[in-house]
Amino acid sequence: MNRVISRFAPSPTGRLHLGHAFSAIRAHDLARAAGGHFLLRIEDIDPGRTRDAHIDGIIADLAWLGLGWDGAIVRQSARLPLYAAALDRLKVAGLVYPCFCTRAEIAASAAAPHGDEAPVYPGTCRRLDPAIGRARMEREPHAWRIAMDDAMVRAGPLDWWDATTGTVSAVPGAQGDVVLARKDAPVSYHLAVTIDDAAQGVTDIVRGVDLFAATHVHRLLQALLDLPTPRYHHHPLLTGTDGRRLAKRDGAPALADLRAAGMDGAALAEQLRHGQFSVGIFPEKA
Ligand code: GLU
Repeated sequence: MNRVISRFAPSPTGRLHLGHAFSAIRAHDLARAAGGHFLLRIEDIDPGRTRDAHIDGIIADLAWLGLGWDGAIVRQSARLPLYAAALDRLKVAGLVYPCFCTRAEIAASAAAPHGDEAPVYPGTCRRLDPAIGRARMEREPHAWRIAMDDAMVRAGPLDWWDATTGTVSAVPGAQGDVVLARKDAPVSYHLAVTIDDAAQGVTDIVRGVDLFAATHVHRLLQALLDLPTPRYHHHPLLTGTDGRRLAKRDGAPALADLRAAGMDGAALAEQLRHGQFSVGIFPEKA
């Protein structure tokens, strides 16, 4: 049997809050219970929003919670050539296309988004004449999007195993032609995370159910790039006393604040493990 390898993969674009702690503890404990490895990967592909201070904060927060990781910390910013090679492979396969649209153009032309999801891209640049596309690439910033319909045909039916729901059929099409390389960054979350989880031999991905939709896309990318499919554990999210998800925008307390206030991190981790929440948070109702 494979050794269990899990990971915590925060983006250093803000301070960690209790929801991150909950997720990190689950990933950590899954590996430790199986005698496996727990990895820390810093997802710092967003040059505009990454801050070194947040990386330092993540390291201090995990130490405070009593969560140790194995091996060196991996930073995605050091792995850009790997992502470029995967994108090249998809270019050669004719499964990605350059997109010149601005956010405003997409918002104006796309179907109305549901809730806080990004609008589904209407495919404008997929229909561009290739010669025009090539000429525009010379002088205009562009993203690279997956040609979702073609990619799904190429991959055929796909599924994955999820600890919460059992076997899930992948339906990435609902998300449209997602971005694989951004205008302002040479890779997107979807592509980088899929490549790194495979490259690091991650067997079990533990993350919040808010990323469940993304897994449909990741499963497709695994198929297109001949990568293995890990097991997934999408856990419920924590909510505040008002029933709303803990997120930075909701003013959830940062772990750094609790740390600075003298709270015992290891004791807090134990509470989170046992579903005791003394800080006004609850697991999200199903
Ligand atoms: N970097 C992502 C985030 O901080 C999480 C990635 C993942 O767990 O797949 O939201």
